[in-house]
Amino acid sequence: MVDRTSREFQSYVDLYQRASLLELGRLAHQARWRLHPENVVTYIIDRNINYTNVCVADCKFCAFYRRPKHGEGYVLSFEQIGRKIDELKALGGVQILIQGGHNPYIPFAWYLDLMRYIKRHHPIHIHGFSPSEVDFFAGRFGMSIETVIRELVAAGLDSIPGGGGEILVQEVRDRVAKKKAGAGSPTASSTCSACERSRRKAGASPPSSAGRCSPSTPSLRTSRRPTR
Ligand code: SF4
Repeated sequence: MVDRTSREFQSYVDLYQRASLLELGRLAHQARWRLHPENVVTYIIDRNINYTNVCVADCKFCAFYRRPKHGEGYVLSFEQIGRKIDELKALGGVQILIQGGHNPYIPFAWYLDLMRYIKRHHPIHIHGFSPSEVDFFAGRFGMSIETVIRELVAAGLDSIPGGGGEILVQEVRDRVAKKKAGAGSPTASSTCSACERSRRKAGASPPSSAGRCSPSTPSLRTSRRPTR
């Protein structure tokens, strides 16, 4: 836990505000050598795969997503994802980072099948799903965060990146990414109007708690649009 009132913390804030970028870089480099004196730097080759751009989170800074039913919305097929992995492997890649929008039209079984498909046909380290996606799955499918992660891992997920945070001050987060998982609550999904509509259509029961969607299973739409 960082004590933001401490002198040490304030000195870092002062430094951050007055130092030039190069000065900060030099100090970061020094800290790196202090913490890791070994003369070794490692890296891997991986590829980002965005399996869908359909999203109901409506983050204000995001130019990537498309609302449900938008003509440019897509969900990649397993085969398309597999081909991207093969291309990566041909270049020496060893990991994929697979992430997507908060797509209310994909059932949970699709994610599990995808993990199994990748491990069976295109085995590679799967670094996938931001915490906000995991939180979305929990709300959407009426599962606990722990169960979501356990099932994804059992199906083949190897690790979860720390994406989706953007900014952890809730007041600011409320302004730019209000519908994403809250900074303080790991399961605080917002009410999603698309989920609500599909829930009503399916005659499913109301969300079990405020802001959480029930696990109705609308059909999955796929397209063959290119992705970044
Ligand atoms: S959750 Fe991700 S894809 Fe969706 S709007 Fe926010 S940044 Fe974009």
